[in-house]
Order: sequence, then C-alpha cells, then structure tokens
Amino acid sequence: MTTIASRLQAVNARIEAAARAVGRQPSEVGLIAVSKTFPVALILEAHRAGQSAFGENYVQEGIEKIAALAGFPLQWSFVGPIQSNKTRLIAEHFDWVHSVSRLTIAERLARSRPPRRPPLQICIQVNVSGEASKSGVMPEEARALAQAVAVLPGLQVRGLMAVPEPTPDTGVQRARFRLLRDIRDDIVRQGLPMDTLSMGMSDDLESAIAEGATLVRVGRAIFGPR
Ligand SMILES: *Cc1c(COP(=O)(O)O)cnc(C)c1O
Repeated sequence: MTTIASRLQAVNARIEAAARAVGRQPSEVGLIAVSKTFPVALILEAHRAGQSAFGENYVQEGIEKIAALAGFPLQWSFVGPIQSNKTRLIAEHFDWVHSVSRLTIAERLARSRPPRRPPLQICIQVNVSGEASKSGVMPEEARALAQAVAVLPGLQVRGLMAVPEPTPDTGVQRARFRLLRDIRDDIVRQGLPMDTLSMGMSDDLESAIAEGATLVRVGRAIFGPR
C-alpha cells in the first residue's frame, strides 16, 4: 500500500472510531482531503485509494488541479479566504465553497455561477474563536447572513464551517465546535434547513465529530507535513 493510501486508511479509522464513540454512524461524517500545496500526483494517489472529495485554499492552484484532473469524478471544495476579484473563478470551477462570510462575496458568487451547473454548495464560515481568529462572520451575525445568502440564485446554503484556533485542550476544542452546532441548530429552528457542519481538521477531528461534524477537512494527516 502507498503512504497516502495507508494514511487515508488511518484517517478513516479515526473517523469511524470517533463516530462510534458517541453513538453516531461513521457514514454521517464525510471526509474532504485538503490537498493545498500538494501536487496532482498525490491527489490521484488518494483518489486511487478511494477518496473523491478534495479541498483547496488558493484559487489559482485549485483551478489548475481541477483542470489537470478533469477526467476524474472528483468533487472540489474551496475552503480558503475569498478575495472579491476571485469569485468568478471560484463560482465557475468549484462544487462547494466553505468560507463565505460576507454577503457581497455570496452575491458575486451567485452572479458568476454558470446556469448549466448545479447550484454552488455553500457553508457560512463563523468565527467561533473570538479575538483569536479574524476569519468568519461573528456568531450573532451568522443567522442573518445565512438567511440572506439562502435567497440568492445559483447557490444552495448547506450549513456552517469553522476553523477554531489550534489548541491541544480538547475541552476548548469541543466548546468551539459546540458553539458552531448551537448556531446551526438555532438557524434550523428559525426555518432554514441546514444539513452540514464542516468542522475538524488533522489535529481535532475527534472533538469535531463528537460535537456533530458532518464534514471533516483533513490535510496533513493524509498528505504529510506542508
Ligand atoms: C489547511 C486547512 C485544512 C486542513 O488542515 P490540516 O491541519 O492540514 O488537516 C482544513 N481547513 C482549512 C480551512 C484549511 O485551510
């Protein structure tokens, strides 16, 4: 087995164990392999080992990989910060965007989504770490933003995403993820359906799954150190 295949198997085993530990089905938790900075050859290796969802942080790098791998049935998520002058490229090439935190960005994505493509799948990124993080909408603004994005054409709001500050303290990890879940539950109670909580990375995926993650975004544990 290749290194990538065995690391992928180990990550899937972690997901399965974390889900079972809290009485969830492992199939409720999807894995996005975050391939930023890693070459196309390693993405293909992961694909041969069974992985089909990949995430990228940088627009130019991402669309080059999408073009190079156009013949393969892969699903591409954009998970990085979004500059307004890159919204057209993101809307044209990606399937999901996890990092929407401003209405103007969502409006630009909506305008640029080609009508022949299915709606762009959207997560609202929430800043669950307060001062320790700059990206994401503030928790108290998440519902209004999600509701405003939900009415835009060409987009489908699927849920919330967060990148909490790194900490080895699993109590803090879980508190951040629980906050994201609580915000999601509140938005759902107010009438906007959401089936996605995109949270958890190489170092904290167990805490995220314990708090309800439906998508984990894992880079280093699959591809190695960056
Ligand atoms: C890089 C990145 C990941 C993956 O992080 P790892 O620590 O490599 O698992 C997940 N989400 C986002 C938004 C990232 O930028």
